[in-house]
Amino acid sequence: FDELDQASSYVGGKWDNVRGLLGGKGANLAEMTRIGLPVPPGFTVTTEACNAYLDAGMAFPEDMWQQELAALAEVEKKTGKKFGDPGNPLLVSCRSGAKFSMPGMMDTVLNIGLNEETVQSMIKSTGDARFVYDSYRRLIQMFGSVVMGVPDEPFEEVITEVRKKRRVKSDAELTAEDWMSIGERFRDIFRRYNRIDFPTDPLEQLRLATEAVFKSWNGKRAIDYRNAAKIAHDLGTAVNIQTMVFGNMGNDSATGVAMTRNATTGEKRIEGDYLINAQGEDVVAGIRATDPVEKMAQTMPASWEQFVEITRILEKHYRNMQDVEFTVERGKLWMLQTRDGKRTAQASVRIAVEMVDEGLISSEEAVMRVTPEQVDFFLHPQFNPHSKKAAGAEGRLLASGLNVSPGAAVGMVAFDADLAEAWAKKEGKKVVMVRPETKPDDVHGMLAAEGILTSRGGRTSHAALVARQFGKPAVVGVAALEIDMSQRLMIVKEQVIEEGDWISIDGSTGEVFLGRLDTMVPDISDPWLKRLLVMADSFRRLGVWANADYPDDAKRAREYGAGGIGLCRTEHMFFQSERLSFVQKMIMTNQPTERREALDALLPFQREDFIGLFRAMHGLPVIIRLIDPPLHEFLPNYESLMTGLADNKIRLLRAANLHEIDELLRKIEDDEHVLGRVQDLHEANPMLGLRGVRLGIMMPDLTQMQVRAIFEAACQCTKEGIDVHPEVMIPLTSHVNELKVQREALEEVARQVLEEQGVVIDYKFGTMIEIPRAALTADEIAGHAQFFSFGTNDLTQTTFGISRDDAEKGFLIDYIQSGILPDNPFETIDRNGVAQLMAIGVERGRKTRPGLEVGICGEHGGDPKSIAICHELGLNYVSCSPFRVPIARLAAAQAAL
Ligand code: PEP
Ligand code: MG
Repeated sequence: FDELDQASSYVGGKWDNVRGLLGGKGANLAEMTRIGLPVPPGFTVTTEACNAYLDAGMAFPEDMWQQELAALAEVEKKTGKKFGDPGNPLLVSCRSGAKFSMPGMMDTVLNIGLNEETVQSMIKSTGDARFVYDSYRRLIQMFGSVVMGVPDEPFEEVITEVRKKRRVKSDAELTAEDWMSIGERFRDIFRRYNRIDFPTDPLEQLRLATEAVFKSWNGKRAIDYRNAAKIAHDLGTAVNIQTMVFGNMGNDSATGVAMTRNATTGEKRIEGDYLINAQGEDVVAGIRATDPVEKMAQTMPASWEQFVEITRILEKHYRNMQDVEFTVERGKLWMLQTRDGKRTAQASVRIAVEMVDEGLISSEEAVMRVTPEQVDFFLHPQFNPHSKKAAGAEGRLLASGLNVSPGAAVGMVAFDADLAEAWAKKEGKKVVMVRPETKPDDVHGMLAAEGILTSRGGRTSHAALVARQFGKPAVVGVAALEIDMSQRLMIVKEQVIEEGDWISIDGSTGEVFLGRLDTMVPDISDPWLKRLLVMADSFRRLGVWANADYPDDAKRAREYGAGGIGLCRTEHMFFQSERLSFVQKMIMTNQPTERREALDALLPFQREDFIGLFRAMHGLPVIIRLIDPPLHEFLPNYESLMTGLADNKIRLLRAANLHEIDELLRKIEDDEHVLGRVQDLHEANPMLGLRGVRLGIMMPDLTQMQVRAIFEAACQCTKEGIDVHPEVMIPLTSHVNELKVQREALEEVARQVLEEQGVVIDYKFGTMIEIPRAALTADEIAGHAQFFSFGTNDLTQTTFGISRDDAEKGFLIDYIQSGILPDNPFETIDRNGVAQLMAIGVERGRKTRPGLEVGICGEHGGDPKSIAICHELGLNYVSCSPFRVPIARLAAAQAAL
């Protein structure tokens, strides 16, 4: 490992190349060796060799084996031992290691080099026959299962049988003779399954193990994992051959795994598990109960001290939290692996911020290290505390375990990965996958499930690592659960829970509840997230505003850091029950006085709405968009009106008295009137019809009422001492003349109100750009607009000619799945089409009106990839739903860095 030259140390792209060639594990072993940490001597067979082997149809590339032997000779020199030498044998491990870590996905063989002869000399040199025979049987077992595909069960059955016969509970109580006889029986099993003897030639063992690791790259587990984690399939794995060190040589030996910081919370404290007198796999497999690693401070203080110092050096070197494996062999500490540790979103944020405080990384780097998805995680549902309390009071808190991956999950119990996947994917059920423990083969079920629950395993268990990586809520190590796989049920506190029953798990606290708990939106008051977002704010050039229709949304948006309201869809206010009847009356009538009355009735409602928004956004801009959708959206549905009319006509035929006839006739007349108006307003393509600015022009008193409400509200707030900045937005302009006439009519109303009230206000009139023609003629339009806001929902609809309301029901999903379209254009701005129109809009608009304020308020405003495009286009702000404001703050900063 120490031959790697200085130039390839942990810097920039070179490091990436080294990792590509040696795999993450090999590169890090080399790096640890280079910086002087205690690493058992070894070497790495490259990923190139693996790819060449696989390409050649399972044949080593020329010279590879000779090179492997030469490297082995170097290791022999360094250790003073000889591979296969009965006098002083060298033992090695053989492990996979790809460029991107794939925990537990590929294969490992330990103790290579043991055979009948070397066993004897090892016994002599260590004086510990029990340890040597145990090591030997492990080699046969691992070699059998990894290299030759022998199932684990027959081996485990033998051990269980011997334990029973000897009346002991644990492996630790078995003697040298026991292990020797177990080893013999293992070789029988090997012979029975493979029809060949266990290979006693160490070089043969090494060659076969190397091949097995190469082949494991294309094993099913590895392929599934790569698909899920979006890792390329052509990278290949490296093979690390390394001198064995033993953690099972007595009470001054140990083995363990640790994270340099808490992987769940990010707290700066070493966290991990270790076992005295054990070998690596024992810790990870969770077969023996481990001790917390900090207990080493008492049991082996010198090694602990050295270990703590090494974790400090590693964090300083890699400038990241590390996940390490180590072994203490007779008091000497060896580092076996280091890699950047997987962590929860919370831990990611905290670690990034604290590393800035510690001077390990810059604040730019901290901002770049956290992904928008991780910020999103803070906004994921949590259980409603009331629902939780109620469940507790009703005795539905079943048990608690380790809270290894936060978030709330509610689902039906599925006891295996295939069922979890089938229920979730085929039947659309919500599933919590419950297992004694998870293995790499379970990943597809974990991905499909809402959450994961296991009865065994710890913080570093497979279930915990994978759940954390994919952001699935998980609770593991719930010892109180007795899972009976054969009857497909589990028993806890004498309650029987069958497959398909509902449970709720809280990955943030480790609690498991029976039944369905209510979830709620979390509070994002995490102090580390706040600090990270403040750092992000210092780098971003884009403003982040919010789409909010009601005062409560606006308040939340502001708490989350919004710098303004980019879109208030006023028509949403019309749908509230007490208002709808006035809206309908206004639409239905042909009488100017009746319409006036309806509008006069609506005005105070609208004014109150705007007062609420202005108060919430004191000092910040509030863009209020005038009514946009086609009017028939406010009227009753055509089909139900027809049915009602037909019903009343039938009743009329059967009517028994004059009074009833009178009433029904009146109803029928009303229905026919409404129906007539609905028919009048009916359009074949309402999205391309009488809506937006067209509506304002055709029904001038409606938008005039809205503008009056806005300015009366603004005046009242100003008088109360609130700093208001209303911006009136006219939707769906396609020709400059539309904007011109509408703005003139409306600005007249604004001036009137300000004059009546004797108040001066800073206001703007502007338009949405959501029709290609508007973008192309932005120079003309900017002559009459003080601001632009891209309505990319409509702009995408009109640019593609795809109905936004039907898109995801139809061909669009097929298009995306089959790669005809790279992304859903309603989710991520189409760079080559829609974004070009936006670029033209910005450029031409600002040519007429330099410094024109331009933003975006379509759904794309909260999508990180689209935010990067908006940054490139030089927009002033993005506006998105309040819940996406924190994500947008980070994404905008990342776009700028
Ligand atoms: C848009 O079209 O992008 C927009 C924000 O307006 P709406 O979604 O209300 O049509
Ligand atoms: Mg629109």
